[in-house]
Amino acid sequence: MGIALGAIADDFTGATDLAGLLARSGYPVSLRIGLPREGEDAGEISPFEIIALKCRTTAVESAVSETRQALAWLRAHGADRIYWKYCSTFDSTQKGNIGPVAEALMADLGATQTIYCPAFPENGRAIFMGHLFVGEQPLDESPMKDHPLTPMRDSSLVRLLAPQVKGKVGLANRLVVARGFAALKARLAALQAEGTSHVIVDAVADEDLAVIAEAVLDLPLITGGSALAMPLPRLLAAAGRLTAENGEFSAPRVAGGQIVLSGSCSAMTRKQVASYSESAASFRLDPLRLSSEGIAEASAWLKTQAPDAPKLIYATAEPEDVRRAQEVLGVQQAGEVVEQALAALAREAFDLGIRRFVVAGGETAGAVTSALGVHRLSVGREIAPGVPWTFAQIDGEAVAMALKSGNFGAETFFGDAFRHLEGA
Ligand code: ADP
Repeated sequence: MGIALGAIADDFTGATDLAGLLARSGYPVSLRIGLPREGEDAGEISPFEIIALKCRTTAVESAVSETRQALAWLRAHGADRIYWKYCSTFDSTQKGNIGPVAEALMADLGATQTIYCPAFPENGRAIFMGHLFVGEQPLDESPMKDHPLTPMRDSSLVRLLAPQVKGKVGLANRLVVARGFAALKARLAALQAEGTSHVIVDAVADEDLAVIAEAVLDLPLITGGSALAMPLPRLLAAAGRLTAENGEFSAPRVAGGQIVLSGSCSAMTRKQVASYSESAASFRLDPLRLSSEGIAEASAWLKTQAPDAPKLIYATAEPEDVRRAQEVLGVQQAGEVVEQALAALAREAFDLGIRRFVVAGGETAGAVTSALGVHRLSVGREIAPGVPWTFAQIDGEAVAMALKSGNFGAETFFGDAFRHLEGA
């Protein structure tokens, strides 16, 4: 059996989020970090294959070129249904990259129409009459209006998408979705007949997503946030495109010590670090010290810890401390010093026999997986919504990794993660 659904995500933690939701089905899910390299052994092919790129805010041409290459790889491995995953707050600019990528993928797939549905009702992202809401606020009144890279200054997805694409943009609204999948299919066909190739679809609840997923199951390309993918495994199974032959995911046993590495400074991660340090040995990394003295001190500390004992190395700090470090080192440099330190310490931890890693921070997770030489992860059960345990082989050894972006997980997430792994 080949790929039942191939997905391309515009950032790493978005890919993990999608992977976790698909893994709820129990079918194998694999997440490839970056474009699979040409000529390299692809390893096992799973019914759900997700390629995580880093193209949310890169130049349009390079985003288009990378996603087209990802598409070519997925098709070469048998995928004929593709999911283009972006953020549930439609993070993009007047130029892209959501629209231009969708249009390029449609051209390659010979698709004449696709839908856009970033709604994620569980997380308070809803679309009504084409307007995206974050909780009860329209997108352009939510904190997203001040995002440093993709400030969202409108809530109308039709207006946001139109300048990004050449084709016509239309809307299938909630009234249609509420009438069920046949009504939605008819609406899509009517829009198609009048030449509308990009359709925003309203969704305010999970039931809407189920209707939409059923109506678009046969489109070569679906685009949206991760939540629209939730009903897909069930629908693909009902359509006979996923069967017992696709296998069932079973988590490998991962023996060896444990560590938490935290480079996220988000509000939730700060609480998680405070809570976990009450019971775990912890070492704080200071970017200024790191930049003058390197990681020798942290690495000496790590060597004195028993591999099995709960332990935490963190750069997580309050906003004023972050600002102070950034003033001295520059924003970029402060971030890099920390990322490189945590990445190097992850490698040392592996060499000391540690095989279970919890990593906090999207950028941090990217740096750590890259230092460990991890290109493919098999995705297990979620610890918290959007954060699954994942498994990789490093130098022939099974390793478990929970890669958490900033605000995900509850206060007790770090301890929960290891308990969850033992129970899995
Ligand atoms: P999140 O998922 O919360 O956004 P990321 O890892 O993506 O976390 O981003 C956090 C960034 O902040 C990283 O580049 C990290 O290296 C940097 N950082 C972490 N701790 C500090 C600190 N104490 N001072 C300055 N920058 C820091």
